[in-house]
Amino acid sequence: MDEKQILEIENLSVEYRTDEMLVRAVNGVNLRLKRGETLGLVGETGAGKTTLALTLMRLLPRGIGFVTGGSVKFDGANLLSLREGDMLAYRGKLLSMIFQDPMTSLNPVIPVGKQVAEVLELHNEAHRTKEQIEERVDEMFRLVGIPPERKGEFPHQFSGGMKQRVVIAIALACEPRLLIADEPTTALDVTIQAQVLAMMTELKEKLDTSMIMITHDLGIVAETCDQVAVMYAGEIVENGSVEAIFEGERHHPYTEGLFGSIPRLDIETERLRPIAGAIADPSDLPSGCRFHPRCPHCTQRCKAEAPAEHVVNGHMIRCHLYEGGAKA
Ligand code: SF4
Repeated sequence: MDEKQILEIENLSVEYRTDEMLVRAVNGVNLRLKRGETLGLVGETGAGKTTLALTLMRLLPRGIGFVTGGSVKFDGANLLSLREGDMLAYRGKLLSMIFQDPMTSLNPVIPVGKQVAEVLELHNEAHRTKEQIEERVDEMFRLVGIPPERKGEFPHQFSGGMKQRVVIAIALACEPRLLIADEPTTALDVTIQAQVLAMMTELKEKLDTSMIMITHDLGIVAETCDQVAVMYAGEIVENGSVEAIFEGERHHPYTEGLFGSIPRLDIETERLRPIAGAIADPSDLPSGCRFHPRCPHCTQRCKAEAPAEHVVNGHMIRCHLYEGGAKA
């Protein structure tokens, strides 16, 4: 593993199994992330983004979610082979996650300051005294823009944006090396979204944290990320730098569809072009390329044969059109 690399995901596959069905949620995912870098993970609901995040945190639902192949190396350790006891030392300390909805992430009957203190007490490797932990809680509150005097209040006394700031304070309290933010601003209104994103970027730079930003919003990716991975039906279909994806001309047909379906201020558009059809049902995936029923470039080969990863101008595209590195 390269010294600067913090995360290396190799050929990762995850399934959900119940008596009624088998869901192939993640298939053959390869991703790499450097220290201090932000990766934007984009795709429609049901693409497998949250499953991928839960796998990294080892939080897949027990007895239902299973890793069926691959490895996840984080700072040299294979997270998937750690014993649960050893994983506790990683989760919340070296690896942290911000969940989608701040309204349900906090305990409603515990004061917000106590919830930040809990994570510091649990991972108290600095052997802080009670007073030092209180000082650190105050510092975290100041860092996320909440007056420390409010730390004795309960979540219901906070607005949605303020609650999300508390969740971010909890996630960053132990200065994690990797922060996974699963649609951290979806539940917030637009002005608060901008404030929270600016704050996260500033904190990330201050603490040199790497980040995976899961979002539907390509605008957020353009503003906050260095690298982009586009996910469709459990697979990464395109992966490259923000410049390669946003300024390049060669794209996976699904990424083209995503760009075509968002409004732009710099060009006059009469009509947005939505992607035809609906995302593939992960319990009943199509043969060949998983995107073929919706793809305007689909051929007989696409229906029969799953495409491999091809490197085009330094970024990866999983599509037969790019075999040999150039668009056919
Ligand atoms: Fe479309 Fe075929 Fe490429 Fe799949 S492999 S995205 S169906 S052109």
